[in-house]
Amino acid sequence: MLTGKVALITGSGRGIGKTIALTFAKNGADVVINYPIDSLKDEADGVVDEIKALGARAVALKANVADFNEAKALIDGTIAEFGKLDVLVNNAGITRDQLLLRMTEEDFDQVIAINLKGVFNCTKHAARPMLKTGGSIINMSSVVGLVGNVGQLNYSASKAGLIGITKSTAKEFAKKNIRANAIAPGFIESDMTKKLSEKVIEAALTNIPMNKFGNVQDVANVALFLASNLSSYVTGEVIRVDGGMVM
Ligand code: NAP
Repeated sequence: MLTGKVALITGSGRGIGKTIALTFAKNGADVVINYPIDSLKDEADGVVDEIKALGARAVALKANVADFNEAKALIDGTIAEFGKLDVLVNNAGITRDQLLLRMTEEDFDQVIAINLKGVFNCTKHAARPMLKTGGSIINMSSVVGLVGNVGQLNYSASKAGLIGITKSTAKEFAKKNIRANAIAPGFIESDMTKKLSEKVIEAALTNIPMNKFGNVQDVANVALFLASNLSSYVTGEVIRVDGGMVM
């Protein structure tokens, strides 16, 4: 489904990003793995090795997406390595959960810097090279960006903001054959949800009609659809992957 395409997935040393990278490689894409700090190089190199074992090309590039110049170097590095960029998945994200009365300015600023400005940074630098080939931009939002959540004012603001970025990107570049869509996962089994208490998990399950958490492959499969030509007439869309939680 992605033969001949070059894909960059931010924050792809582990979790959802790693599974998207492996899924794209299995479907023929050459892949850039991104990690934010030196201490995560081995983890990212491990993903590169897994992808090479699948017969695809891959490289790991360090960049903190919150830094405008590092994001530029990430896109430049992708073009230097593979000559073009067809698919950008803005996946890197963090949480700094806290009730508003206890949330610090730093909690708010860090989440916005990585989850929201990071997407601006990468999209801004990717757009020009993508104009030459067309492309697909996939932004990893969240259902809490649609409905909000207690203790996640900062995170839900960033994920709601991503939906605005997605729709504006889609409108600006529709005539240039660049599509932009968002994925809004609900509860997905991952390092991010491992931090949740039993009580929170039980409460969450009562709100999920399918009565189970999703897995990282469920999200990667939707990313594959949005990256591929199967979604060639889909842009500005937000696809929930949440077992029916928010509808
Ligand atoms: P995760 O396991 O915490 O992975 C996030 C990845 O992003 C990690 O590799 C992380 O590196 C990287 N990252 C963090 N800050 C970065 C930065 N400044 N620059 C580049 N990379 C950075 O999270 P996940 O569960 O796979 O989530 C992936 C995306 O899906 C996130 O945007 C998240 O908000 C979204 N999402 C997840 C869920 C869920 O249930 N898991 C639900 C809805 C939405 P480190 O190893 O340094 O942390």
